[in-house]
Amino acid sequence: MPAAFLGHGDPRNALSDNRYTRAWREFGASIPKPRAVVVVSAHWYVASTLVTAMPTPRTIHDFYGFPQALFDVRYPAPGSPEVAEEVAEVVKPRWVGLDHDGWGLDHGTWSLLVHVFPDADVPVIQLSVNALEGYDEHFDLGVRLAPLRERGVLVLGSGNVVHNLGLLDWGGGGVGSDWAVRFNEQCRDLMLKDPARVRDLVHHPDYHLAVPTPEHFLPLATIAGLAEATQSPASTLVDGYVGGSLSMAAFKVG
Ligand code: ZN
Repeated sequence: MPAAFLGHGDPRNALSDNRYTRAWREFGASIPKPRAVVVVSAHWYVASTLVTAMPTPRTIHDFYGFPQALFDVRYPAPGSPEVAEEVAEVVKPRWVGLDHDGWGLDHGTWSLLVHVFPDADVPVIQLSVNALEGYDEHFDLGVRLAPLRERGVLVLGSGNVVHNLGLLDWGGGGVGSDWAVRFNEQCRDLMLKDPARVRDLVHHPDYHLAVPTPEHFLPLATIAGLAEATQSPASTLVDGYVGGSLSMAAFKVG
């Protein structure tokens, strides 16, 4: 089973038909149907590594100021307590807590999955981004998750390589600022050629502009770890920019 990092961007992508959402759809249609999908979502950023373990995760609308139609979206995929336990087992001795009733599926997950698996027929579990841990720990998590690929489980990272909402210019269209393009292109080169070196980006001169807060970047660390552990080549699914300061880059691994 391949793995992937998908740049999710604006939650309204859930209801849109654009070149990003089409790339997500094509990705979902191109792979064998997984037993389950594990999504590391930027929008579950908590002081712990947790995995959703409820049989029927709720759809969480973790945003405000968007059209009602977005709040009406439900993504009714089942959860999988079994796969959640498998995740906790496979990453040992690292500890992952089972979340039975706290979280669910946030828009980092469902705004992608409504396109990747539009029938909502693949069980979904989410994995949090741990606010107390950095790049190396999230990379290591990906290394440990790698055996799940052999068990028919799709691991997805949901975030954005470049994510600076403070500098976002909604009228800026599909162009990236110079610094965003520099960072994004360097990231793409490393991801495709040597995923272990994606880590070098934390020393990139544009890192603090591209990654003002770590939660959208760290899911990529996990997918880079998984790519490195399985020595699987990565390829670009889609790339582009929104409003100067958001990269929509998406990578497939394997
Ligand atoms: Zn986001």
